[in-house]
This record gives sequence, C-alpha cells and structure tokens, in this order.
Amino acid sequence: MEEPDAKKRKSGSIKEQVFRGWKKIPLPVRAFLALSACVGIVLLFAGLLRRPGSAAGGGAGPDVSGTGAFEAESAAEGEGSETSVSGQPEITGGDKKEGSGKTDASGGSKAEGSGKPDDEKTEESGKSGGAKTEASSERKLRKLVALTYDDGPSNATPLILDTLEKYGVKATFFVVGRDQVEYHKEALIRAYNDGMEIGSHTYDHRILSKSTQEQIWETMWKNDELLKEVIGFQPKIMRPTGGGINDTVRASIDRPMILWNIDTLDWKYEDKDTIVNTVKAEVHPGAIILMHDLIETTGDSTWQATAEIVPWLLEQGYELVTVSEMAKAYGYTLQPGGTYYSFNPLWSPDAELAARYYQAFGPKEP
Ligand SMILES: [Zn+2]
Repeated sequence: MEEPDAKKRKSGSIKEQVFRGWKKIPLPVRAFLALSACVGIVLLFAGLLRRPGSAAGGGAGPDVSGTGAFEAESAAEGEGSETSVSGQPEITGGDKKEGSGKTDASGGSKAEGSGKPDDEKTEESGKSGGAKTEASSERKLRKLVALTYDDGPSNATPLILDTLEKYGVKATFFVVGRDQVEYHKEALIRAYNDGMEIGSHTYDHRILSKSTQEQIWETMWKNDELLKEVIGFQPKIMRPTGGGINDTVRASIDRPMILWNIDTLDWKYEDKDTIVNTVKAEVHPGAIILMHDLIETTGDSTWQATAEIVPWLLEQGYELVTVSEMAKAYGYTLQPGGTYYSFNPLWSPDAELAARYYQAFGPKEP
C-alpha cells in the first residue's frame, strides 16, 4: 500500500518540479522555445507532405518527384544558398501548376519554367539574357529526347512539321542537298524558321567510309553552300550517311558527327506501328531517335508515326528538343570530329548532373 502511494507522490512531485522549472524560465525565452517547437513541427509536416504529393503527380511523375528530391538534397547540402532558401517557395508553386495541368503553366514558366512546351520556349528565347531561367531548368530533372529525320526534305517534311508545330516541339533534320533541298526549299525554310535544327547529311548522300578525303570535303562543302544560299545557315552538326565512319572520315569531318541509339527502321518496314512501338519501348532521357522524312523510302509511315509519338512522349513528361540543345542541357560539349550516339544524362561529363539523374532514373533506365 505504501509503495504505490510513494510512487504517486514521487511522479507528482516530478511533474510539479518540471512545471516549476518551466515557470522559472523568463517569459520571452519560454515564448521563443514554444515558437521554435511549432515551427519545427510545421517544417516536418511540410517535408513529409511534399514527397508523397509529388510522387503521385500524374503523367510527369518521375520528373516532378526528381525535382523535389533534388531540391531537398541541395537544401541539405547548402549548395547555392540563393536557390535553396529563396527558390523553394517558388518551386512549390511550380509543382502545383504542373500537377494541375501542363498547358496552364505558361504563367509560371517565365519565372521558373515548369511547363513542358513553354519551358522550351523560355529557354530558346532566354538564351541571350536568361541566366536565371537556365539555372532553374538545370536544377530540374528534365526528360529530354531528340527526334531526328534524315534524307529529306521531301513531301513528308511539311506533314511532320504540322505535328511539331501543333505541339510546339523541336526536332533535328539532317538534310541532303541534291534532289531534296534543291526541290523542297520551302519545306527546309519552314523547318528552319520553326526553330528546328538543321544538320548536314552530305550533298549527294555519298557513303563517306568509301570515299576519299577530297570527295568527303567536296560533298560537305557543296551541301554547306546550298544551305547558306537557301536558309543562310551553315550546319554546325552532321550525320554521316548510313552511320559509316572510318579514320578518313574522322580526319576529314570538321564538326560533331551525330549518330543515334534508337533505330525505328522506318525505311525498312514502312510501318507506322513498328515506329511507334519501337519508340515507346526504347525511349529514355538523352535518346537520339532515328527516322527518315523521305517519303520515297518511308511512305506515310514516318509522318503518321510522328503524329502519335509526339503527344505520347509529352504525356510521359518528355521534352522534345534539338540535338544541340539536348547535348548542352545534359552537360556534353560537342567536339569537331567527335561521334555521339546519345546524350544519356547518366553518363554526362558533368558528374554532379549524372549523379542526380542516377538517383532518379538509374535503377530503371538502361
Ligand atoms: Zn541517310
């Protein structure tokens, strides 16, 4: 009987002691301690709510959750005090917009670039002045992919451009001078004015790996001259015909050689569904997809496939950009004579960028 009573008294006295101790602390200090506790609880809840919320963010799921994860990471590491402190509320706003509707993001994209198509426009237009825009879009784990079309322009090119324009996305065209540019100048001019990247695919579609250095120089030079005449632009990138490269080609080509890592085989099967299914099965951030806008070899398959692929990729959270833009965004510096099959962010020369993508996509992507 005595023991429980003693315990009760003891526990009562401890409570009283704590309470008296608390009351001994000056009022301002007590107020501060209480406030700190409240703020701590609020921050804890905010942190817990952000992650599951963004992970369930619909179509752009991995993209958004990646952003959140990196934000938390950068704040913890304290890298870029501007971004982690002042940037956080802005980006929360951006996430909300993206969750509610991609098309709605035009208002927010000026500040932080949250919407897919507008993000791209912002970067395009902000290339000269927008260091802030670039910095924020780099922090975001963008899912970029490059559609490329060879051997045109032809009657298929305007039909492909219809889709690209409709969705406000970009692609890259490796054009052939003889018979193609010569007879389809309007299509080339339209593509160039739309902001598509124009690369060289030689003047006469010569197989470079079976050519002399003089022949390589000649076919490259003739194509450059024709393009300068038609669009006033000399391509900064090229794609060797058939992907054939040897030492002579390497020694003769003075610009980056862009190959591909997803081959739709559109010229072989001339089948829309094969193209669409190949892209759906193999696409990943940094992929370069090979197609042909030469209607004589692919018929209607390629432009019809494009009309299906573009909206599907956008639904998956991809941004469709030019080859050069994707290389730059993923930290690759294009070298003259260098060969590039993809610009996978997981293998980026920018180790910090590669690590971020590995965290978000590594276990899932090839
Ligand atoms: Zn070709």
